[in-house]
Amino acid sequence: MRNNKKHLVILGSTGSIGQSTLDVVRRFRNRYEVVGLAAGRNSFLLAEQIDEFQPEVVAVESEKQAGELRRRLGRRRLKILCGEAGYEEIASVSRADMVVSAITGVAGLKPTLAALKGGKDVALANKESMVVAGALIRKIAARSGSRVIPVDSEHSGVFQCLRGRNKKFVKRVYLTASGGPFLRVPLEELAGKSLAEALKHPRWKMGLKVTIDSATMMNKGLELIEARWLFNLRPEQLGVLVHPQSIVHALVEFLDGSVLAQLSPTDMRIPIQYALSYPERLEAPLPSLDLAGVRSLEFFPVDERRFPLFGLARKALAAGLSFPVVLNAANEVAVQAFLEEKISFGQIVEVVNYCLNNHRPRALSELDEILAVDGESRGLAQQYLKELKGKIT
Ligand code: MG
Repeated sequence: MRNNKKHLVILGSTGSIGQSTLDVVRRFRNRYEVVGLAAGRNSFLLAEQIDEFQPEVVAVESEKQAGELRRRLGRRRLKILCGEAGYEEIASVSRADMVVSAITGVAGLKPTLAALKGGKDVALANKESMVVAGALIRKIAARSGSRVIPVDSEHSGVFQCLRGRNKKFVKRVYLTASGGPFLRVPLEELAGKSLAEALKHPRWKMGLKVTIDSATMMNKGLELIEARWLFNLRPEQLGVLVHPQSIVHALVEFLDGSVLAQLSPTDMRIPIQYALSYPERLEAPLPSLDLAGVRSLEFFPVDERRFPLFGLARKALAAGLSFPVVLNAANEVAVQAFLEEKISFGQIVEVVNYCLNNHRPRALSELDEILAVDGESRGLAQQYLKELKGKIT
């Protein structure tokens, strides 16, 4: 017999969002049950999660990872899927009600689509899939009746402000940005910032890729594009405010001049918990917001000289077509190269700029077309990285 718990599949369970999601499940065992866990290469942590949450199926990156996991699990019998097909299969297992999509990058796109096609609600943390395939995701979700509920804190804020309101009264939507670790460093020092410095985010504890994207503010650019599709808004209705305190996550301005804002402590478990419990609300995992203790909330515009990647993202949003796919692919390649200390912080924008400038835009509607542009752009970015390397040595 089916119990009335919500059955979850967590894609990216060993990442930052995955671990926070499991933390929420731990607090509300009476409401949530984990039926599937998908991870990449961290089989040590995955094995621990399997012991604790007893899923019926798991998925890992490759046969090799599957073998390693089997060794760790000993005699326990468990269905282990692997590779791209495995991620798609686990995202649509019949027992699941909701899939938490928290694999980083375009790698999360196919499993997200599989979940939606399978009629699952998706708690979406994987912003890149919305950036590259927003229209397609909307179409598939509409066809299957699945809901996409944002996990990203700013989008959760917008989602909450928009609830129960007619969108025709919305004038503008603002996402806030902390500004990351380089908000106030002298401009001339920016290009030479080290990996360690870029990884020191002042407000949020997050995965590596999104932490670097926050330092360049590409993260906020990707979030604008994500918001455009999540809420079906026009590009000119979307804006960003730098707000170093990270207390206000989003603001929605209505035609009559009223502005609603969503505020909460800076902890990803709050938006994750809301995505899981929506439309209900559960007790918070941490103390109430102490606004008197915060004392001041500042807001100012983004300086695009300081954050040129944000400027490129804003242009890609306005230009539409295949530009957001190129933007995202080039950025993924460049950030990976920076994480491997193959390029400098300042070269991330060079790679993305090069790819956007050397792209012939076209309209994209099907997955194959999107993935083709994604692949082309990665090739272009790799080629540019090779040229850079040639110049250094
Ligand atoms: Mg965010």
